[in-house]
Amino acid sequence: LEAVTDGLTGLANRRHFDRLLSRQVKEAEERSAPLCLIMCDIDHFKRINDSWGHPVGDQVIRYVASAIQAAAQKPACGARYGGEEFALLLPRTDIDAGKAIADELLRRVRARTLSRKSSGELIGHITISAGVALLRPGERAEALLRRADAALYEAKRAGRDRVICESESCAAA
Ligand code: GH3
Ligand code: MG
Ligand code: MG
Repeated sequence: LEAVTDGLTGLANRRHFDRLLSRQVKEAEERSAPLCLIMCDIDHFKRINDSWGHPVGDQVIRYVASAIQAAAQKPACGARYGGEEFALLLPRTDIDAGKAIADELLRRVRARTLSRKSSGELIGHITISAGVALLRPGERAEALLRRADAALYEAKRAGRDRVICESESCAAA
C-alpha cells in the first residue's frame, strides 16, 4: 500500500502531488482552462532548527502546512513537496488570482506570533517565500514545476517574504 499523505502534516506527499499535477495539466490542456502552481519555502528555516531544535522545526512545518491547507479550497490541492517546501495547485485559476492566493497565504503565515508548544516560550513570526507560474499551452508538468521553482528562487533572492510571478501577463508583478 502506497501512502498518499505526509506523516508530519497530513498534506499530500510529493509522489501523490506529482500524479495530481500530471492529471490537472492534462485536464487544463483539454479544457483550455488556466492552471496555476505555487511553490513555497519557509524563510531561514535552518535558523529555527538551530536555535530551537528539530521538534520546534517540526511544529513550524505543521503551522505552515495548516496555512497551506486553509488556502487549498477545492478544487485546489496542497502538498508537502520536500522538507520545508510546499506546493499548491490551483485548477481554473489565472495568474492574477494565483498571485492573490499566494499573497493571502504569505499574509496569513506572517500574521501569527508563534510560541513553543511545550513551554510557551516566544518563537516570534515566521515567513515564507513563493513562486507562481501559469501553465503554458502544450507545457509539461515538469516544465511548469521548474518555472514555479525559478520564481521561488527569485523571491528568495529579492529578499524573501514575497511572491514572484513567472508570467509576462501578471498584472501585480
Ligand atoms: P532559505 O530562506 O533560503 O530557504 O533558508 P533555509 O534555512 O530555510 O533553507 P535551507 O534549504 O538551507 O534549509 C532547510 C532546512 O530544513 C535544512 C533541513 O535540516 C531542514 N529540514 C528539512 N526537513 C525537515 C523536517 O522534517 N523537520 C525539521 N525540523 N527540519 C527539516
Ligand atoms: Mg528549502
Ligand atoms: Mg527554506
